[in-house]
Amino acid sequence: MTKVQNVVILGSGPAGLTAAIYAARANLQPLLFEGEPSSTVDQPGGQLMLTTDVENYPGFVDGIMGPELMGRFRQQAARFGTNVLTQRVDRVDFSERPFRLWSEGTEHRAHAVIVATGAQSRMLGLESERRLLGHGLSTCATCDGFFFKGQNIAVVGGGDSAIEEATFLTKFADKVTIVHRRKELRASKIMQDRAFRNPKIDFQWESEVTEILGETRVEGLQLNDVTTGEGSRLDVTGVFVAIGHIPNTAIFSGQLDIETSGYIKTITGSTHTSVEGVFACGDVQDSTYRQAITAAGSGCMAAIDVERWLEEHHEAPADMAETPTNW
Ligand code: NAP
Repeated sequence: MTKVQNVVILGSGPAGLTAAIYAARANLQPLLFEGEPSSTVDQPGGQLMLTTDVENYPGFVDGIMGPELMGRFRQQAARFGTNVLTQRVDRVDFSERPFRLWSEGTEHRAHAVIVATGAQSRMLGLESERRLLGHGLSTCATCDGFFFKGQNIAVVGGGDSAIEEATFLTKFADKVTIVHRRKELRASKIMQDRAFRNPKIDFQWESEVTEILGETRVEGLQLNDVTTGEGSRLDVTGVFVAIGHIPNTAIFSGQLDIETSGYIKTITGSTHTSVEGVFACGDVQDSTYRQAITAAGSGCMAAIDVERWLEEHHEAPADMAETPTNW
């Protein structure tokens, strides 16, 4: 039989790694599955690996690049003894304790589990997206912006992500058209103002993308004016879809209570899920704030909840349960 871990953490974004830092400092020797580098869904480091400047993470007066920030989180978690596996868990059984989890065919067992699997990019749902992803269609400006030097491209969406991506892409592209289905943006005022002031950014209001044109490369967008129903074509050689995110909960279906919107349900004011001993933090359970700092905060809560829960249930090895915690 495999050793029963005190706590297994799934995910390595700000939530998972903060949970790891706190759990490791509480002497729980957490095992953390950080995901697979080849995955576009749950890549190690989470969504901040796909962003550029993070200007609102407290403590970094001049901002910090997303990947650098996550590298620092990871180093800090490792420093206190987190055991990090570069694998993804593809099956769980939370029906009895110790809980069972499988990764690459190996079974792992744990007294407690922290789910911090984050969220992934929402897509438009067009057949052409499958064909053209990686051929002029992208969901990550940081990863792919460089390939669009001197081109005329589009960004779909009206939230902070869309505006941030469009602004970043003007470093490379000649012109960026933001295609949005309404006539006002959802993005924060400061981001909107930045985009409105940028001479390289244009707006195509009240427009839906009905097709991404091109067989082997993006050649344009087929648009539909939502007020008049009139169709039009926008000639672009690249398109970035930035219309929000979907929480990564597929492997927890039937195991944990999940909202209809896809987010894991937690007991208000805590990280407890519907299964005692399983905790959730970060974007996988937060449809409201979805910030790196709130994800990190809820990761800290999850580690504290786990430590208290393990103590109450006497499920941690005696020497660990008795170790005084200095958060
Ligand atoms: P979001 O705020 O949910 O915005 C999604 C946008 O996509 C909305 O404008 C929405 O239109 C549009 N949309 C959704 N489904 C669509 C569809 N099927 N077709 C066309 N358009 C569609 O998502 P987000 O921009 O990814 O931001 C998520 C969270 O992260 C937010 O809390 C945001 O503040 C935060 N964030 C912060 C920063 C930053 O501070 N630097 C950067 C990125 C994200 P409607 O407006 O019509 O609903």
